[in-house]
Amino acid sequence: MDTIVVKFGGTSLASAEQFRKVKNIIAMNPARRLVVASAPGKRFAEDIKVTDLLLECYENAVAKKPVGECLTAVRDRFYEIIKELGIDFPLDHEMDIIRRNLMKKPDRDYMASRGEYLNSQILALYLGYTFVDPAWCVCFDENGNYDEGMTKRAMAAALHPLKTAVVAGFYGADEAGVIHTFSRGGSDITGSIVAQATEADLYENWTDVSGLKAADPRIVSHARTVEYLSYRELRTLSYMGASVLHTDAVLPAATQDIPINIRNTNEPDDAGTMIVRKIPKGKKKYPMVGVAGRSGMSVIQVEKVMVSDGAGFSALLLDIFKNHNLPFEQCLTGIDTVTLIIQTELFDEVKEQLLEEIRTTLQPDYLGVFNGISVIAVVGEKDTESNNANVKVLSALTDAGIEIITMNQGAGKLNLLIGVLEDRYQDAIKTIYQVMEGR
Ligand code: ASP
Repeated sequence: MDTIVVKFGGTSLASAEQFRKVKNIIAMNPARRLVVASAPGKRFAEDIKVTDLLLECYENAVAKKPVGECLTAVRDRFYEIIKELGIDFPLDHEMDIIRRNLMKKPDRDYMASRGEYLNSQILALYLGYTFVDPAWCVCFDENGNYDEGMTKRAMAAALHPLKTAVVAGFYGADEAGVIHTFSRGGSDITGSIVAQATEADLYENWTDVSGLKAADPRIVSHARTVEYLSYRELRTLSYMGASVLHTDAVLPAATQDIPINIRNTNEPDDAGTMIVRKIPKGKKKYPMVGVAGRSGMSVIQVEKVMVSDGAGFSALLLDIFKNHNLPFEQCLTGIDTVTLIIQTELFDEVKEQLLEEIRTTLQPDYLGVFNGISVIAVVGEKDTESNNANVKVLSALTDAGIEIITMNQGAGKLNLLIGVLEDRYQDAIKTIYQVMEGR
């Protein structure tokens, strides 16, 4: 039997009307038998996600403020859905348990997870599917670290006997039954884990856009939808800020070569974006798949004559960062210079002490820090150099008068990383997009 794991995000399950669309989508293909659900998200721009309401209840409980109002707001969101769909669900009983647990001992992850817990039960009743509580089959250790091996076994065992099921997204539990969540947006990860554990044929991730755009649509309003891209390309783009899928949701499906299809619940006929290990011949139309970027970066430049003669210099420098638990985005080495790119927000916390350590340990000839940098990734597996794509990008930026502060391309040729000043970031994205489109 073919198996498609279908994950529906918060906007796809935000109201009774959206639940109806979801049911229609599932009914269109009998292989859509394993469903992963998020908590109700926003119905309109100013709306509040149920997960945020639940977190507010938690914050209030910790601060010993009244929790009645926000718990009622949570209840009302679910009540509206069950009433409109005519579902017989013991909502008040469930809310009572949540309230009692909150009053006994407020626990952030437990509270945050209750949106998925309730919504998935409601969806299961509406579809006539079995509800599966991930507290039994998404395994964490007591420190809240995800345990892949245990999960694969537990999930496969939980789902094997079931023809159809709805698994709540976003959370799991440790051996003592304590709830742990993934980071925000983590139901995407649950969907990928379910696909991995059941060796599904396809993982469909249903959201409110028809796939990944080749550039941020807030900057390039007419950006095309990417039809196909590789797991590696997607991971890079999502790390660099393209927000169509949680960054950690790629790996579980990718380990089994399961294609991931991003689809739009509001436009179910759109093909969306297909993410695969290797793009089939004829489907790769552009040498560069997409462009994305992140601002708020700092560049740290360390110069010392003869750096290149002492292999230990870079190691000592990186050690200083490691000792401060400070991750860096890129490390570029040249003759007598090492350049590090780092998030300004993280760097600022330890800046003075860290610079002092560099001065005393390495005694550089020059030590400079520049803030206000954006890093842009031009992504396209192995192809950024064929068709002279890199050269075209760099010369277009130069022609547009955009200064290139740093540039970096690893031997894997997955992406070209370019640092520009933040105030030229949008211009740079527009310029690169035009090159990508062959204009
Ligand atoms: N409901 C959670 C959040 O808002 C998880 C998710 O939607 O994937 O982040």
